[in-house]
This record gives sequence, C-alpha cells and structure tokens, in this order.
Amino acid sequence: MMTEKKIKILSKPSEVQAIASEWKKAGLSVGLVPTMGYLHDGHRSLIHRACAENDRVVVSIFVNPIQFGPTEDLATYPRDLDADSALCEEEGVDIIFHPEPEDMYGPHFSTHVAVEKITETLCGVSRPTHFQGVTTVVSKLFHISKADRAYFGEKDAQQLAVIRRMTEDLNMDIEIVGCPIVREEDGLAKSSRNKYLNPEERKAATVLSRSLSSAKKLLADGERSADVIRRTITEEISAEPLSDIDYVSVVDSVTFEDIEGEITTPVLVAIAVRIGTTRLIDNFSYSPQ
Ligand code: AMP
Repeated sequence: MMTEKKIKILSKPSEVQAIASEWKKAGLSVGLVPTMGYLHDGHRSLIHRACAENDRVVVSIFVNPIQFGPTEDLATYPRDLDADSALCEEEGVDIIFHPEPEDMYGPHFSTHVAVEKITETLCGVSRPTHFQGVTTVVSKLFHISKADRAYFGEKDAQQLAVIRRMTEDLNMDIEIVGCPIVREEDGLAKSSRNKYLNPEERKAATVLSRSLSSAKKLLADGERSADVIRRTITEEISAEPLSDIDYVSVVDSVTFEDIEGEITTPVLVAIAVRIGTTRLIDNFSYSPQ
C-alpha cells in the first residue's frame, strides 16, 4: 500500500532551498503562498489554487517582524501551527516553511528591497515601514522557494500591486497570481485579525463591505464622481459609532494617485477602518466602460 505523503515543516532557509533545487532539477514547477499563518478560507483559496497549478507547493508561515510598526500587533498576532498544518496537509502542500525571525534576519542583516511611490499612499501613510518589510521578506521567500508562481490575495490590493511592481522592476522570473477576496456570509472580508473583534465589534465590522457595496451600486448606476464615491462610503462608515476611518480612497489602479473629478480609468476603491482597536481593510476594483 502507498504511504500517504507527509507534509514537511522546515525552519531553515537552506533546507527549503536544497529541496527546491532538487525539484527544479527534476523539472517540477513550484508554487509559493506567503502567509503569516492563522490560516482561514481566504488563505485556503490561494493554497488550493497553488496546489492545482503547480507540481510542488511551499506555504510560508512567518509573522515577519520587519513589516510591523513599533505600536502594531506583532506580539499579539494570532498563531496556531497545528491547525495551519492540518489545513495545508488537507490541500496537499509539500512544505510549510516556518522560520524564526533569527532564521530570516541574521545579526548582520542589512539589505532591504523598497518600492517607491505606490507604497506612499493608502496603508503606507499610517504604516510607513510596512511595505519595505513585505517586499524584503517576499524577495527572500522567492529566492528560498525558487517558485515559478506566487499567490497573493486581492484583499491586500496595495500589497499585490507593490509585489507586481517589484517583480517587474527587478526582472524577477516569477508569475504573480492575484486571487479574489473571500468573505464571511455577511460580507466581512476574512482576516486573521477578525479574531480580535468582540461580538459587538464583529457586527459593526460589516460596515466596511456594506459601504463598498453602496459605492459599487452607485458606479453601476452611472455615478462617475470620485468625490461622491468617497463621500458615500465615508458617510456610511461614520454612521457606525464603533468605527474610526483611517482612509477612504479612490485611486488610479496603476499609479495609486487619488482620482480628482471623474472616474475615466480603472480605479481601486480602498478603505482602512478601525473597529475598536482592530484595523481592517477592504477594497474593490472598478473599470469604467
Ligand atoms: P496574511 O496571512 O494576512 O499575510 O495573508 C496571506 C495572503 O493571504 C495574502 O496574500 C493575503 O492577501 C491573502 N488573504 C488574506 N485574507 C484573504 C481573503 N479574505 N481573501 C483572499 N485572500 C486573502
């Protein structure tokens, strides 16, 4: 009888690199899904697609300290490696790469990858070092896994755009695959951080997706003023007493510059809102006919 494939959980970059080298020599394709763990159905959709499209799949689970600001939730970020391993095993993942910070950042670490311009708006305003932390770790993960394809969620639309910019600008030989947002039944985008919400906040958090649905409807009905879209979303969110808006933005999907006046090019409508102390994000893309 064939024994079932057992998933490998590895913490050293060199161990993963050695296996990935063997895979590449054997002509196998490799998919990478970078995550911070505490996996939910949003992550699962990325992992599922990676397993369907590649011979071998590496899922990284790493709460990357350099993408957190000094006042952010690095210490309290939820973790559950047993549940994460079970999900990955179910989906057919080959390797979970689960390093400690010191495995990734040695005592003399001094190299960073930084994308300019599109990292300076939206989440980059309140999280000025965040994207540099993301692009640096993702570059390392690309080299460690030797991936042919890497999978990212549209939930983090700015992150996805930043990664696409980085791979194009630095001629990285990897295909970036964007995957649609997975939501709870009531519309809230799935997120590991939803765990922080108490029942009252969880209810209030539906205001994010509701306000975006109102904006989508306006656009579908022919509204083209970026100001009207921003105002509609802002008013709907502000009516929720537990909410505190970080930003409500309508930006050009390529340059990430604010749209003033009419929407005539493809745009990203993106929001970040604190519900209590939990910062949540959501977005949708829209192309005028
Ligand atoms: P995280 O663990 O939050 O860093 O997320 C890892 C990857 O999963 C990122 O590419 C996210 O965009 C993606 N992701 C997180 N939540 C969702 C979701 N609700 N739908 C689709 N992708 C998601």
